[in-house]
Amino acid sequence: MAPTPRPGIMDIAAYVPGSHSIPGVEIKAVLSANENPLGPSPRAVAAYRALAEKLHRYPEGGSSVLRAALARQYGLDAQRIVCGNGSDELLGLLVHAYAGPGDEVLYSQYGFLMYPIAAKANGATPVTAPEKDYRADVDAILKRVTPRTKIVFLANPNNPTGSVLPREEVQRLADGLPKTCLFVIDAAYAEYVVSNDYSAGVELVDGRDNVVMTRTFSKIHGLAGLRLGWAYCPANVADVLNRIRGPFNVNAAAQAAAVAALEDVAFTDATRTHNDIWRGWLADRLKALGLTVLPSVGNFLLVRFAATPGHNAVAADAYLARRGIIPRKVAAYGLPDWLRITIGTEAETRATAEALADFVAGKPA
Ligand SMILES: *Cc1c(COP(=O)(O)O)cnc(C)c1O
Repeated sequence: MAPTPRPGIMDIAAYVPGSHSIPGVEIKAVLSANENPLGPSPRAVAAYRALAEKLHRYPEGGSSVLRAALARQYGLDAQRIVCGNGSDELLGLLVHAYAGPGDEVLYSQYGFLMYPIAAKANGATPVTAPEKDYRADVDAILKRVTPRTKIVFLANPNNPTGSVLPREEVQRLADGLPKTCLFVIDAAYAEYVVSNDYSAGVELVDGRDNVVMTRTFSKIHGLAGLRLGWAYCPANVADVLNRIRGPFNVNAAAQAAAVAALEDVAFTDATRTHNDIWRGWLADRLKALGLTVLPSVGNFLLVRFAATPGHNAVAADAYLARRGIIPRKVAAYGLPDWLRITIGTEAETRATAEALADFVAGKPA
């Protein structure tokens, strides 16, 4: 006899993070977790270091300095921002608060894997809507809404496909959902998007009681190791999250470094520019090799390989590994023929293109 976890929990296939090492291989490029190749902002590092002597103190539990900085930067109501230990924590808390056994959590076919994990962890049923050309399909999502649908998740841009929906499509989705269904727009890659018809969703949050936008400091701000995300919510949802989150869920170092990172606009801009240049460069190189590369607005590319053994994504992954390059396998997303490759430094990106050219040409690794 042993304690039994609640229904759903043993159905979870645990999230496998992108790896950072390969036994016996000298690593040249970690391109598996969409981290910032330029590192953290030097100003964030300084703020982090400055905190070292104060580690005996509890963090400020409401993250109020950080929330005020976010509110200033984006023109938001600080009262309706809730910070979390990574946006992953906030996604989990939202499901915990709004969905349980008998309820459905809806997202698109290649949506972020944390959505079904959070659903099952709370006994809710994950439901997927098919995508069209590897892009979320608003009509397909709306068609699958039932009275049991408590949450709809949309990663915009999406990981791992890199696809994005324009503002009007996201609004059409919000308009089509029952007011009792929570709509979570996960905008982890918002800062990378430059197109005019994109919105992270702030105006949708401001106009409704059922739309939440989540953001993270793990991607463009380069603070993945500190674990910090935030949600912009209607007042009713902020109130709910503040009741159930841990009183000190965001550590002091994360709060201090994030404020500094937010102020370092030059660093954020440099990261975006670097990403634009090298994402375009790598996509062109890989397409010239005959590989299929999805259009991406994020800091990564999704690349399709042949289905034949020796030429497939598993072989490409192993080949890159022998060169010390770690991409991300995405079979867990139902994409066994694809690899997701984060845009690295110039040297890392060039090494990746060269390795894949040799792979396609059949040269030994
Ligand atoms: C990386 C990522 C997140 C989570 O980031 P945290 O590190 O938990 O803040 C959330 N959503 C998507 C789509 C992501 O790719």
